[in-house]
Amino acid sequence: MNCFKDVMATTKTDRSFFRKTRGNAIVKLVREQYLRHDIPCLAESCTVCPCSSLGDQGLLSKESDHYIIPDMSVVMRYLEILEQEEMTGIILSQTIVTSLQQHDKSRTYRKLRHIINDSRRKSVIFYNEVFADTQTPRLPGEPAGERDWRALRKLADWYYHHLGQKKRIILLSEIHPQQESNDVCVYSMQAYLNAYWPTVSLLQNLVHALANVELEDDMERIRMTSSKKRGNTGTAVQGFTEYKSTEELEVGIKSSRFFSGTLRCRSDARDQAYVNSAGKDILIVGNQNRNRAVHGDTVVVELLSENNWATASNEISYEGGSTEEDIEGSQWVVQQTEKSRPTGRVVGILNRNWRSYVATLQEDSPDGSFHLAVPLDSVIPKIRIRHQEAKLIQNQRIVVRIDHWPVSSQYPQGHYVRSLGPIHHLDTEISAILVEHGISVSQATQGFSEASLKEMPIDTPEMPWRPEQDEIKRRKDLRSLTVFSIDPPNCQDIDDALSIRELKNGNIELGVHIADVSYFVKEHSLTDLEARARGTTVYLADRRFDMLPSVLSERVCSLRENVDRYSVSVLWTLDKSYKVLDVWFGRTIIRSSCEMEYEQAQKMLDGESTPAGVDPALSRKLKPFVEKLAQVLRTMRNQRLAKGALELESSEVKFKITKDNEITDIIPKDSMEIHGLVAEAMIMANSYVGKRAYQGYKDAALLRRHPPPSATQFDRLIKAAKSQGFSIDFSSNRSLARSLEIITRGCQNNPEITRMLKTMATMAMNEAGYVSSGQFAVSDYYHYGLALEYYTHFTSPIRRYADVVAHRQLLMCVGDSVAVNDANVRGTVMTQDSKIAEICMNLNLKSRESKLAQRDSTELFQSLYVLQHTMTGPLIESGIISEIRSNGFYVFLPRFGLKGPVFLIEKDGSPIVPLSLVSNKAKEEDYIPNSHIEVSLPTNVSVTSADLPHPINFQLFDHVRVSLKLRKSHAHRHMVYMTLVGLEHTTKLGSSQVDAVTTAQLSRDTMMRSIAEQEEAKAQANAYKDRSKEELETRKQMRKAAKNNGSSIYQLLEPFRKMSIIESTTSQ
Ligand SMILES: [Zn+2]
Repeated sequence: MNCFKDVMATTKTDRSFFRKTRGNAIVKLVREQYLRHDIPCLAESCTVCPCSSLGDQGLLSKESDHYIIPDMSVVMRYLEILEQEEMTGIILSQTIVTSLQQHDKSRTYRKLRHIINDSRRKSVIFYNEVFADTQTPRLPGEPAGERDWRALRKLADWYYHHLGQKKRIILLSEIHPQQESNDVCVYSMQAYLNAYWPTVSLLQNLVHALANVELEDDMERIRMTSSKKRGNTGTAVQGFTEYKSTEELEVGIKSSRFFSGTLRCRSDARDQAYVNSAGKDILIVGNQNRNRAVHGDTVVVELLSENNWATASNEISYEGGSTEEDIEGSQWVVQQTEKSRPTGRVVGILNRNWRSYVATLQEDSPDGSFHLAVPLDSVIPKIRIRHQEAKLIQNQRIVVRIDHWPVSSQYPQGHYVRSLGPIHHLDTEISAILVEHGISVSQATQGFSEASLKEMPIDTPEMPWRPEQDEIKRRKDLRSLTVFSIDPPNCQDIDDALSIRELKNGNIELGVHIADVSYFVKEHSLTDLEARARGTTVYLADRRFDMLPSVLSERVCSLRENVDRYSVSVLWTLDKSYKVLDVWFGRTIIRSSCEMEYEQAQKMLDGESTPAGVDPALSRKLKPFVEKLAQVLRTMRNQRLAKGALELESSEVKFKITKDNEITDIIPKDSMEIHGLVAEAMIMANSYVGKRAYQGYKDAALLRRHPPPSATQFDRLIKAAKSQGFSIDFSSNRSLARSLEIITRGCQNNPEITRMLKTMATMAMNEAGYVSSGQFAVSDYYHYGLALEYYTHFTSPIRRYADVVAHRQLLMCVGDSVAVNDANVRGTVMTQDSKIAEICMNLNLKSRESKLAQRDSTELFQSLYVLQHTMTGPLIESGIISEIRSNGFYVFLPRFGLKGPVFLIEKDGSPIVPLSLVSNKAKEEDYIPNSHIEVSLPTNVSVTSADLPHPINFQLFDHVRVSLKLRKSHAHRHMVYMTLVGLEHTTKLGSSQVDAVTTAQLSRDTMMRSIAEQEEAKAQANAYKDRSKEELETRKQMRKAAKNNGSSIYQLLEPFRKMSIIESTTSQ
């Protein structure tokens, strides 16, 4: 706290308190304490204290007519309500902070701290225990709880009088009697919400739900006080045991008898989880060994004896993400093999990492008030919740929270928070994605507070925004320079533009011009804080959720054509061989002459002088610029590749949605040359700005680093490459690049294999992340993928907050007068290592979640596509075997960027290899009889049968034809899976395989006669037949649904159609 820095006047006093030791003994501590007389109240309306100089500190809003002071009983029970965005004006007392520390409630403390640190919440922490006017010494024999309450009352009185009796102070308590008054009053949480938030149903629902929950903390307290008679927590569910005491856990960890780490449950094998402790995975098998730990919790595990070690399952889950079946009862069959891994059992929890979960009530939930909610995320167990009218939420996606998981309960206990809408409606499913990935309510509703919008420049049709004369004078005027932007079609938020020109001396000037967001978004403004919290614009398959208000992102900042725009430019001077001689950074004003689309620019490069959509005269003028630019950037790119930069692949796709609201196609993201060239210009700007910011702020530059991968991450890639006769050398990025290049050349006839291997390499990489340079050694700044010493994000400030920070840092470095003045007048945290590190942590989290949200929305649209395109008949596509598992394989469809499972073995163990592989007359549900399947992981599956003259081999990267299917689900998204239709013989590699397949083809007719008839009866009776009937029924229903209300689903797409073709920002 800043207020401790300048001690003006202090008074010495003694303070004694009691603390519980680890062994639960109570000791009395006496501490010398210096009382202070000058702690600021942190209220905006105060004229006495020096509060305004406290930088980015949130202050109690002068607009509010009351502030609230919660006591311990409210903090423990209603923390979740205090966390809601609506709740502002909270005064957190030192009394509570101390109490939390004494009770080892560091997690609760961190959550409260999080509220205080968010300046939008207008909440403060007040050190009342060390403040002369509010300190409250304990009276002889006075219980701690009573003294604490007196301290809070004293604090409330002080605030009331200090603020001139103008603000009502409300003490919140569940245990002290209510007291109405116009100055200081006491309310329960329910009474407070009734008085101030009577119509906010979310808060009202929550307060009801939370009033009834049994808190895990209560349970702990009960155990603490009666540790000898544990019976009072109920009979333990079989296999569950009480957690060991904190002391036992600590001793165990120190002596390496126990291990701690984060529990990660597998979504594809639901009775398996891992705990990674010190780089080693410990397998946790079965619900009982997981012992009430939930995915994401920090747990302590005890190793099981070696005869309990097991191999991790390699099966494709038959349920995928769409199971509603119980895993609780399932038994793990221990397979003892050489490759057995250490297994363990959870004996304690260090930290619960519970969040809000999207869930659906289990189908046919019985009447009564308790129900099971099935979380959308299949790694989360079912949650028992209380709801009086289950019918109201029966077919809805709902948000639930877990409260605790007693040893006597099969399921964790939680409460209902709110409903997101009916299941399988597009808007509901999109909301579900946003909640699952922690995207804030304000961003999800595309909203900005009124106060934040007041900070925005005015730009209306009547009063269009125009640059100011004084500001123009201050900037480098580049309006006469030919500048243009290259983006996907219909791009609204244009971050970047380019320019190139020949100088009189024959040198070349290359320019990258970026929207000047930091000019409009001042540090500490509400818009700034909101953008910092959001971190990034979230792009989903059909819509986006902006980081900044649209007046900036689409208009005033966006570098539109034929209007004057402020920008921050990087101008390089290059000699004739494109060597960089000099670089200039600074604020400029530009006037873009053209918003070009990628395709148009590419056509110019391909020789077309007037591509469609560009004015012919303009096009003829721009063509030489585009060509010169390409020439320069190709050189830059090649230089970087020579240094070891990797050309990696992603399987990102975009959706084509027609005027009639139908998804007509899913197509891979464009990869024309021009994409790479524009990206190269951005990479260049980012790396030069990163270096410049580092030179200016050695200890606090926001950089983006990409750590090199480790050997184990490459295991799968190495084996896959080996199966195709290639080796991978990953000792450095340069050698890895060379390996990939050899593969590219070797697979010219089969580019898909190159693509698969490159995708695998991409997946094996570490994630790149933002860091503050003060936290790492210089050698750790290196960007492995791009082969650059320094890198940052500078080129997309409209959609990424990291870039806003980079702009501020750069501009302060180069002494831009406005930036320097802003920093001096308003105070800046942009030069503080710890603050930048904190911002980076949030940005890393936000960008990861935003990518996951994008992936989920892609899957949602892929399943919508399959739904639409299987209504009238089968949907057959070609794909590549991308991963072999013990019961089938995954097939990747490059055209759709989609990976789905193909099963060769049924759940009951019977082989289901389609007869259609050897006979084109076979029906879909006919299987090769008497077949035997041999899997050699990770590259080969061989199918033999007495009825087959030769085995059928499936190898990694084989091309196959599959039929896409949709497995319908109630509690989850519909899952796309595939059935095998045929092999694509033409692309087979390897002579032995060609032989096998050819022979199979030759013998097809003779074999057919013998087996098809013989097996027909069997096939009729096959269980799969029933499933397939069920599917037909499902399909019929879906067709019906589409006729009745389906159109409304697609109607929903209409407003987003324009944005349907989404270019995600370059992920470097
Ligand atoms: Zn004051």
